[in-house]
Amino acid sequence: MDIHEYQAKDLLKRFGVNVPRGGIAYSPEQAVYRARELSGEKCVVKAQIHSGARGKAGGVRICSSDDEISEAASWMLGRKLVTHQTGPQGKMVGRLYIEEATDIAQEIYLAFVMDRTEERVVVVASAQGGMEIEEISENEPESIIRSVVDPAVGMQNFQAREIAFQLGLDPSLINQATKTIVGAYRAMDELDASMVEINPLVVTGGGEIVALDAKLSFDNNALFRRPEISELRDKSQEDPRETYAEDRGLNYIGLDGEIGCIVNGAGLAMATLDMIKMAGGEPANFLDVGGGASPERVLMSFKAVLNDPNVEAILVNIFAGINRCDWIAEGVVRAVQELELTMPLVVRLSGTNVDEGRALINESGLNIITADTLAEAADKVVAAWKDARSKNGGAV
Ligand code: GDP
Ligand code: MN
Repeated sequence: MDIHEYQAKDLLKRFGVNVPRGGIAYSPEQAVYRARELSGEKCVVKAQIHSGARGKAGGVRICSSDDEISEAASWMLGRKLVTHQTGPQGKMVGRLYIEEATDIAQEIYLAFVMDRTEERVVVVASAQGGMEIEEISENEPESIIRSVVDPAVGMQNFQAREIAFQLGLDPSLINQATKTIVGAYRAMDELDASMVEINPLVVTGGGEIVALDAKLSFDNNALFRRPEISELRDKSQEDPRETYAEDRGLNYIGLDGEIGCIVNGAGLAMATLDMIKMAGGEPANFLDVGGGASPERVLMSFKAVLNDPNVEAILVNIFAGINRCDWIAEGVVRAVQELELTMPLVVRLSGTNVDEGRALINESGLNIITADTLAEAADKVVAAWKDARSKNGGAV
């Protein structure tokens, strides 16, 4: 789960990271009012969306008058901001963060990420942070500092100091930088974050170290023990298909294709996506219905898959161990009837109570294509989808 910049800053502040003062606004009037509460001649109006690279898309504006603030706020609010991280559909700006402007002397990049090869948290830092960090990591990879954290002891002061020195910071800034690095690591560790990114972490003209931007991502599987973090969820920023499925306890991830998938087991679900691609189709989603799926749960899975307007065919692939094929089949039959499904549907059942399951499908008299193996099922669904497409002159 991602959260907004202002929420991330508020959390980091509790761990001793310096952040500018600011306030949230939902309207241009409120933006002007928030700016008055801050000191200084300039303020920054920042679109709050779950994406970086807002600056290049017009989502970060330095303003020096009420008119400018009002104009920037009007432009941003209600706009679908398209950045190179959002995809072409963009993300809706529903709130703004109005911050006191900072006098920037240097922009640093500082991030804490999970390195799956190291199986450790790795600190990634660069003395040349800011909006061009992607280009720098591409063109001058040797300038990027990497430091692996030992989970047994966590981020130690000496390690943070070493990073601060590697960044080439003035000796007068080392203590502040150390405090920032250790604080950000503690935030990651204690809040179950999977990523902390501060870009830019700036050195101000006055010799202070301040986090000017902040991104925190959380491990969804740890949210149950972090209710105060769960509260920060903003569904307006999420893929609506995933929100729908997640609210119903389904393990679903939206993809870009046309073939909806309902599978049991994460491994089998991944294999199903591969097989669809090999057969020449594109999967619309990953969906693991889990073990012991009731007919109701299967029906709900169909609803989640059909909630995606791009879906033009469905493949149900069940290898039942804990599951029961007859329950799955009952759910499939109910879904086709209740949802008046007309698009191609291929069902492959195997395992516990497979004969009962197949009988239910066959006796239903519904237009359901069956298959015995995964490869056959993938071929059949792609063929049926292409067939339906050509009959309908393009889309199903
Ligand atoms: P992002 O584009 O979504 O990563 O948004 P950031 O919060 O990182 O802002 C983008 C850029 O705007 C920063 O790298 C800064 O160069 C600039 N910026 C943001 N806030 C300030 C500020 O208070 N003063 C100045 N001078 N520049 C700022
Ligand atoms: Mn940034």
